[in-house]
Amino acid sequence: MRSLSRILGSTAALLATLLCVEVAQAQHARPARAPGASRHAARPRVPPSASLGWANSGTLQFGRHLTESNEVRFLPGRVLHWGTDELVGLLERVGAATHRRFGAKLTVGDLSAQHGGPVGRHRSHQSGRDADVCFLARNYTARGNGAPVDLDDYVSFDANGRSLDGRFVFDTARNWGIVEALLSDRRVGVERVFISSPLRARLLAFGREHGASQGFLDRVALTLVQPRNVSPHDNHFHVRIGCPAGDTQCREGVRARRVVRRRPARRAARR
Ligand SMILES: [Zn+2]
Repeated sequence: MRSLSRILGSTAALLATLLCVEVAQAQHARPARAPGASRHAARPRVPPSASLGWANSGTLQFGRHLTESNEVRFLPGRVLHWGTDELVGLLERVGAATHRRFGAKLTVGDLSAQHGGPVGRHRSHQSGRDADVCFLARNYTARGNGAPVDLDDYVSFDANGRSLDGRFVFDTARNWGIVEALLSDRRVGVERVFISSPLRARLLAFGREHGASQGFLDRVALTLVQPRNVSPHDNHFHVRIGCPAGDTQCREGVRARRVVRRRPARRAARR
């Protein structure tokens, strides 16, 4: 009896050994996972972004790329979609609010280049804190406001909220929604929103008539401005956020431009 159990025991041990070898061989035969394909592999940590210098004379470090989604679309033909973590996060939240409230997407034009610095078409947009946002519009119809439309280009609107080409109307209610989402964001402070004075007045009047608090209206009035010496911004919001906390080399405002005086001799030579 004792020898039988000894035989059974050593047979079981042999089977277990064979099984282990087989499993080990099978594991060895499994194709190697491509590097980085493991779901559990640690992702490299992305350093936080940093805005350096002024909006019109600066650069961007470790910028974040905005991506299109159900809530954000890019204006066709615009390719600068890098910003600070704060700016990209703000645009995502404003896009989400716009989608939630109106079923619309936020149409975003240029932000900054990947590493910031001077870019064509813009004096600023250099340090990852500027973004152009399209107005929300509706088709114009003789009987009133038509269906909402996603604009594929910047469209200028006059003081009556009608596009200069007559095809669209400025959707004051939904554009006020964008302003509300921008200026009530709890994480990011907006330094400026450039917009033409007549459209700014339309938005403020709408807010006043629809229950906005005086404190919020005052903030809107201080933040929304028509810029001087450049286009009045009657075709898009230009949003500039304040310097993010911790970005010690970030500068608010704009760098004063050097006035270059030509010498008379040179001026004469040019004639
Ligand atoms: Zn701009």
